[in-house]
Amino acid sequence: MPKNLIQQTLVLLKPDAIQRGIIGPIISRFEQAGLKIVGMKMVWVDKAFSKKHYSAHVDKKFYPGLENFITSGPVISMVVEGIQSVKAVRKIVGSTEPHQASPGTIRGDFAHHSYEYTDKKGIAIKNLIHASGNIKEAKKEIELWFKAKEIHTYKTVHETHVY
Ligand code: AMP
Repeated sequence: MPKNLIQQTLVLLKPDAIQRGIIGPIISRFEQAGLKIVGMKMVWVDKAFSKKHYSAHVDKKFYPGLENFITSGPVISMVVEGIQSVKAVRKIVGSTEPHQASPGTIRGDFAHHSYEYTDKKGIAIKNLIHASGNIKEAKKEIELWFKAKEIHTYKTVHETHVY
C-alpha cells in the first residue's frame, strides 16, 4: 500500500447539521465512499477556540457571524482517513457556498444558502460542514481538535477489498 497517499483530514459537522438531525445521512456519505472515521467527538466550542480554528479568517468581515454560528451549539468533529482523503472529502462536501454546490455533494443536496442572502441578513452561511483545505491545514487542525490518543488505528473491510 503506498502509505504516503493515505491521509487524515479534519471534518466538522457544524451546529446546523446537528440541529437539523442530519448527522447520520452526512456521515453515511463518507462511509459509502469507503473513507474511515478514526476519531470522532461532540464538542461545544467557545469564542477563543473558534478564533484558533478560524485564525485565517478572524480579521475578515464575515468572521463575527461565523463565530456566532460555530459557537451556537455543539459540533461533531471527526478525523477521516483514506486514500488522498483531504481532496476526496472536499469533493464529497462540495463548494463552500451551498447555492453553488453541485447536486450529489453534501452541501448541494442538504442546503441552499447563498452569500447574497446571508450578506444582506448579516448572518453566517449555513453550510453544514468544515473540511480541511489542504494537507498542511489538515495536520494543524487535527492537532488543534484531537489528542493523539483520541485517534484510533483499526482495519476496515475496505483495506481488504479496496486497498
Ligand atoms: P474555509 O476556510 O475556506 O473553509 O472557510 C471557512 C468558513 O468560513 C466557511 O465554511 C464559511 O462558513 C466561511 N466563509 C468563507 N468564505 C466566506 C465568505 N466569502 N462569506 C461568508 N462566509 C465565508
